[in-house]
Amino acid sequence: MSFNDIVGQERAIKILTKSLKENKISSSYIFVGSEGTGKKLTAIEFTKAVNCLNLNKDLEACEDCQSCSEISKQRSPDLKIIEPIKNSIKIEQIREMRKEIGLKPFKNRKKIYIIDKAEKMTIEASNCLLKTIEEPPYYAIIILICSKIDPILPTIVSRCHIINFGLISSYKIKEFLLNKNKNIEKEKSEIISKLAQGSIGSALKLLSAEEYFIRREEVLDYLSTISPGKYGDDIFAKVEKMVSEIDRVEEVLEMIKLWYRDILIIKNTGDQKYIANCDKLEILEEKSKIYSQEILIDILDYLEKVEEYLIKNVNKRLIFERLYIKMVGVEYCLK
Ligand SMILES: [Zn+2]
Repeated sequence: MSFNDIVGQERAIKILTKSLKENKISSSYIFVGSEGTGKKLTAIEFTKAVNCLNLNKDLEACEDCQSCSEISKQRSPDLKIIEPIKNSIKIEQIREMRKEIGLKPFKNRKKIYIIDKAEKMTIEASNCLLKTIEEPPYYAIIILICSKIDPILPTIVSRCHIINFGLISSYKIKEFLLNKNKNIEKEKSEIISKLAQGSIGSALKLLSAEEYFIRREEVLDYLSTISPGKYGDDIFAKVEKMVSEIDRVEEVLEMIKLWYRDILIIKNTGDQKYIANCDKLEILEEKSKIYSQEILIDILDYLEKVEEYLIKNVNKRLIFERLYIKMVGVEYCLK
C-alpha cells in the first residue's frame, strides 16, 4: 500500500506530499468527504510518510522499515485511531488522548492521532479536543476524518488544514474493480461502478454482495410497474404488502432514490453518463416520458426527508404509504 494505491484522490495527496516536501506539515488536519473515498487510508499513508526512515527522493514511504511496517499493520505505538463507541466519541476518549499526547513519541518523529467519524464527537468531547488543538505539542499531528464538516465545532475547523476528498469517477472505480478482480464480468463492473456513487468503499461492498443484486432486481421490477396516475382502490393494501416484505429499509430507499434520480437526469439532460442503473436504461427512458418534473422532484424531496423520519423512528408503514402516494402521483391527479 502506498499513496499510489489510493484511487482518485490525486489532489488531496498532492497537497499532503507538497507539505512534506516543503516541511510545512500542519499540526491538525480535517479530511472531509463521502464514506469510502479513501480518507482513512490516506491518513495512514501520511503517517507512514512523515515517519519513514528511508523516504525516497519522491518522498514516498519505503514500506519496509520498522516504522512503515508497524504503521501499515496499525500496530505502531505512535499511531492512535479514535473511533465512535456506540455511535459517539465521548469525552473520556479525548481525555485519554490528551493525557497520552503529552508524552513524546516512542520511536517515531511524529505521533499521529486519527479521529475517525469526528462528526460523532459529543459537544463535551469537542470542547476537550479544542484545548489540544489550540496548543499541540510540536511532535503531534491530529487528523480528523469526517463526511460532513458542519457538525464539527467552528473553533476546531478554523485551526485545521482542511483537505477535501471528492467523489471518485465511475471510470476510475471500474478500472479499480477490473484490476482488483480479474474474473469480474465487464458488465458487472460497469453496473457496480455506477451504483457505488463515487465511493470505492461502496463498490467493494457491492462486489461481494450477491444478495444485494437479487434484492435490487426485485425492487426495480416493482418500481417499473409503478406509473403516475395508475392506482386502484386497493392502494393501501399494496403498500401494506410492500412494507411487510421489506427488511432492509435504508437499502431499499436508496435503490428507490437512485431510480427516480436517474429518471430525472434522463428527463432533464438525456445524458446517460450519470445514470446509476445503467442496465435499466430502456425502462428509465420510458418512465422519463411519463413522469412530470414536478412529481419527480416531489418524490426525491420526500426521500431526503425520510432519512430523518427513520432516525426519529416514524412508523415505517406511514412513511411508505406517503411515498407510494407520491410515486403514483395521487396528489397531482386530484388537483
Ligand atoms: Zn519506511
